[in-house]
Amino acid sequence: EEALRQSEKRYQTLAGSAPVGIFHSDAQGRGVYSNNRLIEMTGLSQEQTLGFGWSKSIHPEDRERVLKEWFNALEKKLPFRSEYRFKRPDGVTTWVICQVVAQTGDSGEILGYIGTVTDITESKRAEEALKESEDRHRSVIESSPFGFAFQSDHKVVYVNPAAMKIFGASKPEELIGESIFRLIHPDYLDKVKERISKLIRGEIEPLMELKFLRFDGTSIDVELVSIPFTYMGKQGTYAIMQDITERKLAEEHLKQANIELRKADELKTKFLSVVSHELRTPLTPINAQLQIILAGYFGDITEKQKKSLEMIFRNTTRLDRLIVDILDISKLEAGVMKFNMVRSNLNEIVENAVETMRTQAQNKSLKLIFKENKVPELTVDKDRITQVIINLINNAIKFTDEGGAIEVQLSGDSDHACVAVRDNGIGIKKEDQERLFTPFQQVDSSYTRKYEGSGLGLAICKRIVTYHGGKIWIESELGKGSVFQFTIPYNYKNKEEKTESNLFGKAGKVLEKGA
Ligand code: ADP
Repeated sequence: EEALRQSEKRYQTLAGSAPVGIFHSDAQGRGVYSNNRLIEMTGLSQEQTLGFGWSKSIHPEDRERVLKEWFNALEKKLPFRSEYRFKRPDGVTTWVICQVVAQTGDSGEILGYIGTVTDITESKRAEEALKESEDRHRSVIESSPFGFAFQSDHKVVYVNPAAMKIFGASKPEELIGESIFRLIHPDYLDKVKERISKLIRGEIEPLMELKFLRFDGTSIDVELVSIPFTYMGKQGTYAIMQDITERKLAEEHLKQANIELRKADELKTKFLSVVSHELRTPLTPINAQLQIILAGYFGDITEKQKKSLEMIFRNTTRLDRLIVDILDISKLEAGVMKFNMVRSNLNEIVENAVETMRTQAQNKSLKLIFKENKVPELTVDKDRITQVIINLINNAIKFTDEGGAIEVQLSGDSDHACVAVRDNGIGIKKEDQERLFTPFQQVDSSYTRKYEGSGLGLAICKRIVTYHGGKIWIESELGKGSVFQFTIPYNYKNKEEKTESNLFGKAGKVLEKGA
């Protein structure tokens, strides 16, 4: 008896000081003992836990379920294990896990039950926080306009609604477990396989455009970025993708529009060159014949006839000039003007141009002065630079009244040579100055204008100077005169050539042939 009492005391001490809740019930599930820890967890007194009093400690929301599980286990003689909450009278809630084993007699009959109750509030809280954060992330991904698809072992393991839409699937199950290689257009398979192995090796892969196969058999253009990740301990990747059908269509349209534009441009260039050529050809014999008649080769001509023929000659010459200008500007715009770039002496070029124009200036009683500073040799196309200078002097003569003066000045700084043509002619208003370098622009564009010309000269000059890497500009005051200046760098580096001839490559060839 004493030994039994001692043993009972030992167990009570053990149970009383255990850090888990311990209880004892009879064979019908009625409480007969609760240890201190359980009393603390439930907030009930020892007496209150007796009988079925313990059930009051269960959270009202869990109580019915737990009692059902408890009596079911008793009835079927099954072990009882359940997770639920205690709600103490003071409102404190504790998550617990309760496990119960049967206490049997010598012949196997059930004498009662012994249960342990462990507080799992902390791990539950952590679990809930994790779930909450998972839910939050999931909802971000689920509502994302970008498609998210995860693959592991080349099988789809997750897709969000946007990705389902891309593939034309109505449920994630239609895609989950599917081999990713069946979803990729055959043209891109090798690329994707290589990419996945690179990603898994830890290499960073750039944004990729590819085609997926949709459930309805069509293909779809997507852009995606993929990132390696681990799924249930296995290596995989996930892709963030977007449908780029619209963009692809727009690109296609743009490409088409560009082709058409190029075609139109080719046609324009061809038309210009053919027309110019066809117009020039008959002019040459007309002019030749006129000169023969004027020279008296076919006999004497009257003064009246001479005047009339001279007028015709002046106009055919003007027409010829215009055709040459049109041809020049179209070649320059198409980037196919041939430049013969050689090391040259600019002093000589400018001097010769001035001398060429001297008679024309004298005919209008204009002073033509050449102010020269020696400049180093540079690389230019002599004929084209001469054309620019003559054009500027010609304009100066044209737009300066009799008795005026024109000064041509050559100078240089450390990088550039500069040619300035200064006149004290009619001048140009500020607002008209900039547009003069665009084709067919004249200050006075009326049909009744006083000065003849096509409005092409300065546009041609600008393109020639730009080709040489220089700049051309104007300073002018209405009624006082104008200065046209251009620079040419000593170190010739033509940046325009490449881009232009690439852009108009084909047009250029047509033009070369035509001209
Ligand atoms: P064009 O002289 O054949 O009409 P340009 O392109 O050479 O063509 O010149 C365009 C216009 O610029 C001229 O029509 C004229 O209005 C103006 N312009 C050019 N040079 C001068 C100048 N030295 N003085 C005044 N106006 C000028």
